[in-house]
Amino acid sequence: MARDPRYDILFEPVQIGPVTAPNRFMQAPHCNGMGRMYPDSMIAMRGMKAEGGWGIVATEQCDFHPTGDVTPFTETRLWGDMDVPYLAGMVNAVHKHGGLAAVELVHNGHDSGNIYSREVPIGPMHRPVSWRDHPVQARAMDLSDIRAYRRWHREAALRARDAGFDIVVVYAGHDGTMPSHFLSRRHNQRGDEYGGSLENRLRLYRELLEDTLDAVGDTMGVIARFAVDEMMGPDGLEWQHEGRDAIEMLAEVPHMWDVNVSNWENDSMTSRFAPEGYQEEYIAFVKQVTSKPVSTVGRYTSPDAMVSAIRRGLVDMICAARPSIADPFLPNKIKEGRIEDIRECIGCNICAAWNNISAPIRCTQNPTMGEEWRKGWHPEKIAPKSTDSHVLVVGAGPAGLEAAHQLGKRGYRVTLAEATAQAGGRVTRESAMPNLNAWARVRDYRMGQIAPMVNVELYLNSELSADQVLEFGADHVALATGATWRRDGIGRHIRNPIPGVVSSNSFSPDDIMDGKRPEKGSVVIFDDDHYYMGSMMAELLAGEGYQVSLVTPGLCVSSWTEHSLEQEHIEKRLVGLGVEILPRHSVLSLGSGGVQLENLVTGELLARSGALVPVTMRLPNDALYGALVADQKKLDAAGIKSLRRIGDCYGPATIAAAVYEGHRYARELDTEANPDGVPFKTVKYDLELGG
Ligand code: ADP
Ligand code: SF4
Repeated sequence: MARDPRYDILFEPVQIGPVTAPNRFMQAPHCNGMGRMYPDSMIAMRGMKAEGGWGIVATEQCDFHPTGDVTPFTETRLWGDMDVPYLAGMVNAVHKHGGLAAVELVHNGHDSGNIYSREVPIGPMHRPVSWRDHPVQARAMDLSDIRAYRRWHREAALRARDAGFDIVVVYAGHDGTMPSHFLSRRHNQRGDEYGGSLENRLRLYRELLEDTLDAVGDTMGVIARFAVDEMMGPDGLEWQHEGRDAIEMLAEVPHMWDVNVSNWENDSMTSRFAPEGYQEEYIAFVKQVTSKPVSTVGRYTSPDAMVSAIRRGLVDMICAARPSIADPFLPNKIKEGRIEDIRECIGCNICAAWNNISAPIRCTQNPTMGEEWRKGWHPEKIAPKSTDSHVLVVGAGPAGLEAAHQLGKRGYRVTLAEATAQAGGRVTRESAMPNLNAWARVRDYRMGQIAPMVNVELYLNSELSADQVLEFGADHVALATGATWRRDGIGRHIRNPIPGVVSSNSFSPDDIMDGKRPEKGSVVIFDDDHYYMGSMMAELLAGEGYQVSLVTPGLCVSSWTEHSLEQEHIEKRLVGLGVEILPRHSVLSLGSGGVQLENLVTGELLARSGALVPVTMRLPNDALYGALVADQKKLDAAGIKSLRRIGDCYGPATIAAAVYEGHRYARELDTEANPDGVPFKTVKYDLELGG
């Protein structure tokens, strides 16, 4: 299909100093939990972005000196010549597809715990290290330290050129880099020429930019990545004041400006807390004060929003991390006029969470993310079918939809049976909760892909029994029948049913999502799940006027969401809604007197009136599976060659995991997998073997 000409502007080249980006798409530097530890995986993932049309593909943070060691995060590193080859591998993978490769040099300043290098951390002032309350202090840099620091940065830029990079990103963002620490009034109260006035606090960043331009600027583009607002009012940088003044002072220094807000929790807000393009109001001034190209992020997945941001004079390039993770082929799909094929990011931050737990990146929407090398999975390609088998997929939640989609793509004849009147399973239910509507993209993308496939049939309102499955005549059956929230309180903390819980005054999250409600008044949410569901129940019910208490054995509300960068946003929203939060508490019983609670630290007993919503764990909906496997003879007689459970029906987990398992099922059908082997390639080590 021909591209709509209104998107042509996105495919114009952009001059960045001595280099030219082939289009206006820049894959923003983004962490991926692979970096130097899983270099083959990182290289293949970045190469895939270039293959998909991103004109610039950047590394994640690349730390350039042992005093700025980002361990335990598995990012890229450029401490010396020994680090050049694997980065050159990434550059080659990007160049192979016509993209420009950018490296984001970083020193995390007083954020670095240096837990691997054991160097004494450094920063503008004597200050405790800010990373995870690490019990170590950063020492204040003197002028010779600053000179050394500039030298390390310059040498890293030169090594980046040796690796073949086209662009150096000089990074002052996220409240997590040395130049941003120097720039900040709260971090920098120095009395020398690097402290005091804005000009002085900005001096180090100016020097880094000038040093980099001097070292490599004749052949490499130099991008200033700069946070213009810290979203903390006058205590931090504000775009109307020092954020703007700083950009004005350095306006023509770099070859390009990549601007955003700080810190990472604000820059990468989930869709629950910010819509597409949410940074525009903060960065709108930048193009008015510089003649250099400008880019920003904002979870842009809509080509119309991208074109609009360019036409309104806000940016010259669209910078994107999560949209490029969810769909590495986003630019090419726009280029080829295949807008409906874009797999839009849902803004859930599972990608960031996996990085934050130091694991290789995964993505809810793109199950191939992180599997490009180790499993050889391509986000757009899949092997054609090897038999003429007919596959029955039962359940059209994320697992069933993804399995049907990919099996259909392989050419199999697929029947997808769904019990309810609407596809989507948990995604349909959960996306109806406040501010989660973008999650419906998991369903909508797959429904859109399946719709034109003549070999895939979807039957709604079709709850299948074991007999119906046997009668169906399929060669392979995949059960994607999901899971159900427990109502009895059993989970991590409570191992036996809560006394009194089997009463009408206990409601599971499924009940609430199905529209059932306690009597108006008070309700206790018991959150022993620690991800989003407990807080969603609280947000939903508080929004409807209930007096909500959120009780959790955790140290804070939704403790796991620290990884998805949401914890503080969630807590703030719940407090704003008047929700009472009781961390380190558990539920003892439910009765006519309400919900009996216990303070897990002091043992103090307390009570809250009203109903209970336990959010603890889910049980697989595997009764159908049980009925089918109970009689192997019947399965054989029905000609069913394989019966598998996938997604939450097999192991209740995240939506990302359900999509992944559905995808995996489709990839592996009719293939020979060694059930005892490691199901992917692993890193080869170059060891000295004790020699
Ligand atoms: P997952 O996350 O693993 O995809 P979900 O709970 O989101 O699981 O989706 C499971 C889907 O399976 C739901 O839409 C549910 O209505 C459907 N389902 C459950 N049992 C049956 C059945 N026996 N026949 C058809 N559909 C079923
Ligand atoms: Fe978007 Fe979620 Fe995928 Fe991250 S994990 S890219 S936020 S869909």
